[in-house]
Amino acid sequence: MTPHSTDYLVVGAGTAGLAFADTLIAQDPNAHVTLVDRRGKAGGHWNDAYPFVTLHQPSAFYGVASLPLGSGRIDSVGLNAGLAELASGAEVCAYFDRVVHQSLLASGRVAYCPMHEHLGDGLIESLLSGERTQLQVRRRIVDASHQGPSIPSNHRPRFEVADGVRLVPPNALPQLWQRAARGESLPRRFVVVGAGKTAMDSVSWLLGAGAPAAAIQWLVPRDSWLVNRVTTQNGAEFFDAAIGGQADQMQAFAEAESVEDLFLRLEAAGVLLRIHRDRWPTMFHLATMTPAEAAWLARVQDVVRLGHVRRLEPAAIELEHGRIAVDDPAATLFVDCTASAVEPRPLLPVFQDGRIVLQMLRLPLPAFSAALTAWIEVHGRDDKHRNALAAPVPFPHSLADYPKAMAVGMWNQAQWGQEPALRQWMRECRLDGFSKLMASASRDNPAQQAIIARFKQHAMAAMANLPRLIASAA
Ligand SMILES: Cc1cc2nc3c(=O)[nH]c(=O)nc-3n(C[C@H](O)[C@H](O)[C@H](O)COP(=O)(O)OP(=O)(O)OC[C@H]3O[C@@H](n4cnc5c(N)ncnc54)[C@H](O)[C@@H]3O)c2cc1C
Repeated sequence: MTPHSTDYLVVGAGTAGLAFADTLIAQDPNAHVTLVDRRGKAGGHWNDAYPFVTLHQPSAFYGVASLPLGSGRIDSVGLNAGLAELASGAEVCAYFDRVVHQSLLASGRVAYCPMHEHLGDGLIESLLSGERTQLQVRRRIVDASHQGPSIPSNHRPRFEVADGVRLVPPNALPQLWQRAARGESLPRRFVVVGAGKTAMDSVSWLLGAGAPAAAIQWLVPRDSWLVNRVTTQNGAEFFDAAIGGQADQMQAFAEAESVEDLFLRLEAAGVLLRIHRDRWPTMFHLATMTPAEAAWLARVQDVVRLGHVRRLEPAAIELEHGRIAVDDPAATLFVDCTASAVEPRPLLPVFQDGRIVLQMLRLPLPAFSAALTAWIEVHGRDDKHRNALAAPVPFPHSLADYPKAMAVGMWNQAQWGQEPALRQWMRECRLDGFSKLMASASRDNPAQQAIIARFKQHAMAAMANLPRLIASAA
């Protein structure tokens, strides 16, 4: 039932809105929250994701703080073998359903209005009845949609598509069998358009489902650096790889003389990967994969690097830097993977008069950032103090952006370190895999203590070197 007043109106019941609401009601026992979303189910974009999507980070530190996601399994097969499980999109949606119904609503202090549009200033409209309700918001309206990604199933390609072109989002791939069931011919060639994580997932899925590597053509405007998932694990057994990886990362930031040198050092340390070793990637969106997955994708050799697609025709592809023929037009299916999960958004003050705009406070962790914002909302002295703890971290797009993002992230971390209560909360918060793992180090384990000492030493030096790296890229 739609309430008439609330303390916090959270617009968006995706990862960010749910993680915020969950921590807020845990930290402030008197707060009432109303969640509004135009979608009919909680979980935001995950509800419309392609069926073979998974998290690209371990489930262990995704979701909301109060409810674990996944079973703590280490995968024993596949391209993620040996590493912590990655929830599928369906698992993420089922999890968020539980968060809403068994946790938030069960608290008695949360109202949830699916299929409602927020029209602004607390006015919401039911998409089914058209009824409008003006909510009295006692404290703040929380914009939990500022960072919402564009996804294949609901975006429009920016290139022209001529009549007769068979172009589908990746969502359609697992349903192709239905064509055969209807007596239609199945495609024998696949042209994957796009170079981000969705395109990588689609190529990986096609190969895994039996498409020969030679049947796949990949249109890649820019090659991408990738985070090696081995360094993002947060289980105790991964201490050396994860905290050691952080120490290596800090060392690279401390010693690099240019942005190019930085990326080469990160690659040499095993922190970053690239799919095609003979190419120099110019994109970095923090997409994460294993070395095995990168090698798997490198099987596709027909990679076209002629810039962005301008126009698709049944028998030709027009790109920024050239035009190529389609090999077998009648048998070709184009797969549109050009929706960007990380479109640039303006950076805004997080805490404003009567308003909160959820943004990334640590990269690339939207769930942790939203939960942390709730903690700061409850315990901050005033908005000046709150914003001092919550500088929004710009998402990197080019290589030159990475040192800038790192500088803001490290600044935030330094501010948090000066707040004992916040430090304690972070150590206990399951969404902050890094602090938890650091805190788990045994004082009697000299190897672990040496890694931590190395991390701290290089982190100080990295802070000092960041301005030089940023200037070198200007
Ligand atoms: C394929 C994919 C994989 C990803 N994997 C990871 C991962 O492994 N780890 C990670 O940390 N991040 C990952 N991300 C990043 C992802 O952006 C975040 O995880 C997170 O799901 C984003 O959540 P959100 O709440 O910001 O946005 P959304 O999920 O888009 O939620 C925002 C919600 O706001 C609602 N809304 C917006 N405006 C209004 C309005 N006016 N009225 C009512 N409702 C409104 C929308 O309907 C939507 O449901 C991935 C992203 C993609 C696309």
